Amino acid sequence: MTGSARLVVISGPSGVGKGTVIAAAIKQRPDLLLSVSATTREPRPGEIEGRSYHYLTRPEFERRRAAGEMLESAEFAGNLYGTPRLAVGEALAAGRTVLLEIDLAGARQVKAAMPAALTVFLAPPSMFDLAARLRSRGTEDPVAVDRRLQVAESELAARGEFDAVLVNTDVGDTARALLDLIDTPPG
Ligand code: 5GP
Repeated sequence: MTGSARLVVISGPSGVGKGTVIAAAIKQRPDLLLSVSATTREPRPGEIEGRSYHYLTRPEFERRRAAGEMLESAEFAGNLYGTPRLAVGEALAAGRTVLLEIDLAGARQVKAAMPAALTVFLAPPSMFDLAARLRSRGTEDPVAVDRRLQVAESELAARGEFDAVLVNTDVGDTARALLDLIDTPPG
């Protein structure tokens, strides 16, 4: 069942597997829409403009943010990230459930602005596991990995602020648990 349109925030430390879990959930439920964020980060190999992110220069990002075009935004590990307000609003108005894959600061902004949003924190089985995943991914240099692990410590400490916490031990199980949460009527 699809239920009614909801805004679903999925947060958790870099490397925890948010993208993989979300992809597995959407494969089962193609009616779910993943919002494409804007970022000032450089594209990684294989990433596609407009699909992975909208890649913006910092001045362009700041211009759009000042114009109120971002639903939320945050600086993460030296780069700006933000959710385009218009695309999310249009999808919700059209009755689609929208997933936001965003960091802790962004999750807090969304929950403050839209308390009905469902916020889900994805946690690693352990910090050791997270470090191993980030290193083996090989998308960041060692300094960037260390930076992301430091951020992860403080993000993990905030897991209690979320409506639900899922420990990502198995992608399939976690995706199913996420879909169950989405399908559970609020309240
Ligand atoms: P990455 O550089 O690995 O793609 O993303 C780094 C972090 O930024 C991740 O925790 C990701 O969830 C977060 N992020 C991605 N898009 C957004 C966004 O639109 N807003 C916020 N606040 N964080 C985002």
